[in-house]
Amino acid sequence: MSTDRNIVVIGGGPAGVWAAIGAKQQDPAAAVVLLTEEHCEPYEKPPLSKAVLLGKRVPGDALIAGPGGLAGHGVVLELLAQCAAVDRSARAVTTMDGRRFPYDALVIATGATVRDVPQLPPGMPRVHYLRTEGQARALQADLQACRHLLVIGGGLIGLEVAASAAELGVKVTVLEMLPRILARVCDDETAAAVFAEHQRHDVDIRVGTGLADAAPQRDGRIAVTTTAGEGIAADLIVVGTGAKPDDRLAAAAGLAVDDGIVADEYCRTSDPAIFAAGDVVRFPGPHGPVRQENWRHAQDQGSVAGHNAAGAAETYAAVPSFWSEQYDLYIQGTGWRTSNPAARVRRPLPGKSMLMFEIAEGRLVYAMGINAQRDLAIARRLIERKTPVDIAALAEPEQPLAAMLKAK
Ligand SMILES: Cc1cc2nc3c(=O)[nH]c(=O)nc-3n(C[C@H](O)[C@H](O)[C@H](O)COP(=O)(O)OP(=O)(O)OC[C@H]3O[C@@H](n4cnc5c(N)ncnc54)[C@H](O)[C@@H]3O)c2cc1C
Repeated sequence: MSTDRNIVVIGGGPAGVWAAIGAKQQDPAAAVVLLTEEHCEPYEKPPLSKAVLLGKRVPGDALIAGPGGLAGHGVVLELLAQCAAVDRSARAVTTMDGRRFPYDALVIATGATVRDVPQLPPGMPRVHYLRTEGQARALQADLQACRHLLVIGGGLIGLEVAASAAELGVKVTVLEMLPRILARVCDDETAAAVFAEHQRHDVDIRVGTGLADAAPQRDGRIAVTTTAGEGIAADLIVVGTGAKPDDRLAAAAGLAVDDGIVADEYCRTSDPAIFAAGDVVRFPGPHGPVRQENWRHAQDQGSVAGHNAAGAAETYAAVPSFWSEQYDLYIQGTGWRTSNPAARVRRPLPGKSMLMFEIAEGRLVYAMGINAQRDLAIARRLIERKTPVDIAALAEPEQPLAAMLKAK
């Protein structure tokens, strides 16, 4: 059925782009507009902390919508369109510069923003955050003359930056407040393998240690004191302390928010004309409301939100997955972690490869691996299909995982 409905999407990340494309696919007659506060066609963020810093890619060179951009999908792109307000009674979005976009259905995909560090006040020179292509350009330029980089935070992005800088020959120190790195995303053994790889590249990771104080010096460096009382003279600081959902616009519009925009399984917010997708959303997961911060979730949930904004009634129940690249390690996780799985087994693999499975009620619920892309893809399907698994076979490398897909 074709309509002449107006669909507006806010946000130029993967969730927004795939919502806009999904809406157009669902209802080709709809007028679909994507509003982004940035100055350029929406681009992929994952290369910014990896290939871009290594000089192998140009920031912003990979367009999310493909080489033809959003126009190639029939979507109108409005650049430098920072949304100031959503007027729900009039069903219109206004931008900071006074543009007004009426909608029949709206998708909010404003993503996440960096967490501020109180010891590093805004505007402090030689302190970098990494979420946009502009920030990647600035960091890449400053890294050229950097001898000692200090990374605050031993999470995925902080460690990717650390790995890239180490590969460029820069001395790197990482401060992680928690007792180990990657605490939010990795089990102990996988995190230990990543830690060891950083050590092999002479990256100095100090766990259980935070930033106590930072003061710019006359020589251009920053004098840092750690919570352990140690002093570090850094040329540059990169903040990788995680992100928080950017739900300000939604909250100001009176939508239900709870550390993220609250949406149901149809990606519908507390206003039935407004949908939400991506890093900014808290949605129903198998163990209660959750937020996800990864590329695949943003893409998959964006598509569902876009379809539904254009009249479909799809539910979003995708199995989450993330990946990270550090040195020659390709780290992946897929599924839903639980605090107390019935069993956790490792499948021995050669070299730097690793594979770990978590099982609950006879089914695989989570898998994590290093350099085991093929196995992780099969594990994801086992999780999606809720296929019963044999724990002994999972631990046995001679038993092909693909054969388990056939189990009833
Ligand atoms: C450097 C980096 C590396 C990453 N690497 C990986 C990886 O290897 N693997 C992985 O799985 N994930 C990775 N991620 C995470 C992944 O990129 C995010 O989960 C994903 O981008 C989230 O998509 P999103 O569309 O929800 O939000 P975002 O990508 O954050 O996009 C939100 C957009 O909304 C715009 N916006 C916000 N407010 C407004 C407003 N008021 N008006 C207009 N526009 C607005 C923002 O400018 C932004 O462009 C990485 C992220 C970063 C930053």
